[in-house]
Amino acid sequence: TTRSSAQLIAAEDTVLAHNYHPLPVVLARAEGAVVEDVEGRRYLDLLAGYSALNFGHRHPALIEAAHRQLDALTLTSRAFHNDRLAGFAEGLAELLGMDAVLPMNTGAEAVESGIKLARKWAYDVKGVPADHANIVVAENNFHGRTTTIVGFSSDPEARNGFGPFTPGFRVVPYNDLDALRDAVDEATAAVLIEPIQGEAGVLIPDDGYLAGVRELTRARNALFVADEIQSGLGRTGATLAVEHEGVRPDVVLLGKALGGGIVPVSAVVASRDVMDVLHPGEHGSTFGGNPLAAAVGGAVVELLATGEFQRRAAELGKELAAGLDRLVGRGVVRYRARGLWAGVDVDPELGTGREVTERLMAEGVLAKDTHGSTVRLAPPLTITREQLGEALDALGRVLG
Ligand code: PLP
Repeated sequence: TTRSSAQLIAAEDTVLAHNYHPLPVVLARAEGAVVEDVEGRRYLDLLAGYSALNFGHRHPALIEAAHRQLDALTLTSRAFHNDRLAGFAEGLAELLGMDAVLPMNTGAEAVESGIKLARKWAYDVKGVPADHANIVVAENNFHGRTTTIVGFSSDPEARNGFGPFTPGFRVVPYNDLDALRDAVDEATAAVLIEPIQGEAGVLIPDDGYLAGVRELTRARNALFVADEIQSGLGRTGATLAVEHEGVRPDVVLLGKALGGGIVPVSAVVASRDVMDVLHPGEHGSTFGGNPLAAAVGGAVVELLATGEFQRRAAELGKELAAGLDRLVGRGVVRYRARGLWAGVDVDPELGTGREVTERLMAEGVLAKDTHGSTVRLAPPLTITREQLGEALDALGRVLG
């Protein structure tokens, strides 16, 4: 027997942890930028799985890669080699112009791995006394949900009640080079930041900030670790968001879209000399680098290597910004956008971000609020011009 959306929501409420507050829609099918619920209602997906679906739902090349791999080999563990992993890692390293890849599964795991890598580098290479390394992070960061990561969050909802926390982190204001200069010292292993703060509301730092982080970390012999888990892989109109400032970090963290919206795939990408501080037995993951993940990740890298999706994000991004420009003063207080990614601050008198997303849902558009009255828009990069126009029209109606 098939259950209705209402019945499935009630069943979830009974049996699941209540750590999410989803919009009341139960999806059953999808293709490209369109999703369909249990009753057959169709919606435009303007969240794209928090950018895990940059290539849209069920991109044919990714689905084909997954099917092919399902018929050959799905899991080996890293106790053995598999025939997909080398190609995936070579492609990813080449795409980023870096040397070495550490495959993991989720974003939080990539962040944790980046933290371990930076600490090990600080002790083995920089010569920081044992257990004295610090990592400098930014206020309003979002890097995931593990205990170590929420320990350096500045969001009380994310951290309260989950202590005690891992020591060794310093939190400074985002987009503030002076504060960073004061915080980085001889025991600093790394500066870990999002090139654009996604969950904080798509906050884009001033021009020169990322270049300043690069310069400072180089001068003080600390690693620059860029969390590109949400900003990377085409979203902003470039392969990485740091490219907008022509900056190359020491370590790049990737996730979300790397799995093509099919499987969880994340990675730490670094130079060979940094990565080589890790030796057998010091880090790992049962699923990291599995052949199914590598096959899909490899197909993702092939899509990005064409440059087509980055170009599309840049071009359609202009239309997104133009559409939002027209709404400023008409329900939109201000917005920040780069590529196909926008944080839209709606007039609080019109409702919370959550209320706006509920009204958008009634208009056939699924989006997600962040904090307060901010709605984030991040459609699949495959969305058509017409679909993007429809979504912007719906936003206009909802705010009008
Ligand atoms: N880092 C950033 C910048 C993110 O936006 C997210 C997720 O939203 C994460 C890390 C955590 O990724 P995951 O949910 O896959 O653990």
